[in-house]
Amino acid sequence: MSSRDPFQSFTWHSDIFSCQSNDISSFYARLEEQASRLGLQARKLGDAGPHPLELYQSPAQKADQPSILISAGFHGEEAAGPWGLLYFLNELEPELFGQINLSLLPLVNPTGFKRGHRFNKLGQNPNRGFVLENGRGRSNQDTSSEGEILLAHSQLLAAASKDGILTCHEDVLLTDTYIYSFEANQHPGQFSRELRDALGHYFPIAQDGLIDDCPVQDGIIFNHFDLSFEAFLVRLGASVGVCSETPGQQSFDQRILANAAIIKRFVELTLAKR
Ligand SMILES: [Zn+2]
Repeated sequence: MSSRDPFQSFTWHSDIFSCQSNDISSFYARLEEQASRLGLQARKLGDAGPHPLELYQSPAQKADQPSILISAGFHGEEAAGPWGLLYFLNELEPELFGQINLSLLPLVNPTGFKRGHRFNKLGQNPNRGFVLENGRGRSNQDTSSEGEILLAHSQLLAAASKDGILTCHEDVLLTDTYIYSFEANQHPGQFSRELRDALGHYFPIAQDGLIDDCPVQDGIIFNHFDLSFEAFLVRLGASVGVCSETPGQQSFDQRILANAAIIKRFVELTLAKR
């Protein structure tokens, strides 16, 4: 098995955004621009080191519309997730908010992102330690400071992800792509396959076998319940969940486009279910 060094630094240049992948001030400035253009409401959940951990939500959320949560940037070296989310926002028209309640966690681990390494600056893994006990979120010895903040807002995040959670990760070791998916089924359905194919449009799909000790078949690791954020929200009631994994050995800009594409597809499939 391959393993990831949590403090190895990875950075790439983006021609699309004309900056380095870990240029956090440029990222926040562009995010602010889009949040303002789209009328997104920012809600500070806590502080991740010197940076605020913010949830952005579409304005005037309606009870009769589906609610989905898109998150990115849990692992600092997986930079195409946050930039892909930003690319998606750049292309978005606010009319969409008349059909769907959109919530966004654009950059969960800013201190890792800035350094281009996996863990936060305290050396913690922000995607571990999400325990559900008696219907409530609880931390354990593996929970990061960002995780504590997210767990403290479990109810808000459960409501925001009622109709689905998509979390954008990358696998820096690979040239191929795959997804984790969660559906209330024995086998991956069309939803999982379509999202896998959104990435498969950009990269080869991983061969069957084991990735991180999980069985991957047709590019999908299915219903793997660990103590990750996405598994936690599915346990809390999100009707579907997907964790996308773009390959870090491929072109950075292609990975940005692939992340934007899977977010767009996730929105489209949510609307198609109505
Ligand atoms: Zn990751």
